[in-house]
Amino acid sequence: MESFLNSRAIALKQGGIRGFFDKAKNYSNVINLGIGEPDIDTPKEIIDCAYNAMLEGKTHYTQNAGDLDVREAVADYVRSYGIESNPSNEIILTCGGMGAVAMAILAIVSEGDEVIIQDPQWLNYCSQVRFAGGVPVQVPVREEDNFIFEAENLEKYITDKTKVLMINSPNNPTGAVMSKDDMEKISKLAVKHNLFVISDEVYCELLYDGNKHKSIASLPGMKERTLIVNSLSKTFAMTGWRIGFAIGPKEIIAKLIVLQENLVACAPAPAQRAAKYALSTMCEVKSMVNMYEKRRNIIVDGLNSIEGISCLKPLGAFYAFVNIKGLGKTSLEFAEGLLEQEQVVVIPGSAFGPSGEGFVRVAYSNSEENLIIALEKIRNYVSKLK
Ligand code: PLP
Repeated sequence: MESFLNSRAIALKQGGIRGFFDKAKNYSNVINLGIGEPDIDTPKEIIDCAYNAMLEGKTHYTQNAGDLDVREAVADYVRSYGIESNPSNEIILTCGGMGAVAMAILAIVSEGDEVIIQDPQWLNYCSQVRFAGGVPVQVPVREEDNFIFEAENLEKYITDKTKVLMINSPNNPTGAVMSKDDMEKISKLAVKHNLFVISDEVYCELLYDGNKHKSIASLPGMKERTLIVNSLSKTFAMTGWRIGFAIGPKEIIAKLIVLQENLVACAPAPAQRAAKYALSTMCEVKSMVNMYEKRRNIIVDGLNSIEGISCLKPLGAFYAFVNIKGLGKTSLEFAEGLLEQEQVVVIPGSAFGPSGEGFVRVAYSNSEENLIIALEKIRNYVSKLK
């Protein structure tokens, strides 16, 4: 019988990461350095806030854009890194950062529009662009350039069909963070070629070595052409709450609100209450960042002490992108072998796009104890490969 699915749904494929986790389920005592989410639970005070809100009746639909007082809390929060926004028409609360990116692409990308995405990249961007009828244009970023778009190279990929430029800093999967200089170069290109920028800033609080977040939307000429996407998932260990937000030009936000009405109505009401509390107190964020920074140092020093592999020091998020090119194995072979022989899960770089080949992503959102054990297992595995 012919499929009832439409052609875009048929083309939609499960990401490479999921398949790998399915394999990991066949092993016991696995140390999972594959998962892209905090290992810790949401701080109790945030849970209490949502619990009390629900007891007080916050169990209903909210406005499609989200409760105004929560949007005001978002506006106050982003002011702390230089973004001025009007909560009444430039902010929408969404179902996670994922909801915001997906709706933005659906609202902005028309059939045949090209969307520039770095390669390697977070998996879902390309699927979302294709689902909207657009064409993802994957632009390689190189380890020599700290996995940041090189502006001259990037410009070669811009055509008269290019409409959107996706950026994601701090980055998944590389942990790279754009400097002000990098952002200035990219923003000049965006202005010159009249591109819209979707800036995925979901890891913006997870910055190390004392660095502070800067959004490309704060640069000259950018506010009117940028949609900032952010989320509470990583900052507050709230991945399961499905709460995020987008900030952008009011024409775009107005359309995202209608789109959200038609897709999911609104972000979950209890999660909105929790978001207001979390953003206005920034509870536990400092201690979480210190914890991740310590883990980063352990994993990066450990990996770089293993002969045959190496990685740059990631400046943000909780991923190390490890170069395994010297070992004569594909990233999938490396990751499968590591799982089979040592029961450690890492994600093959090829899952993040063609330029991810030769690398594996190691997520250090795991306990120090597990990271130390995993490092010894990786050392053991690599020593047998050489
Ligand atoms: N953007 C990036 C780069 C991510 O890595 C993720 C999740 O891993 C998301 C967006 C979506 O996060 P959420 O929908 O939980 O906010």
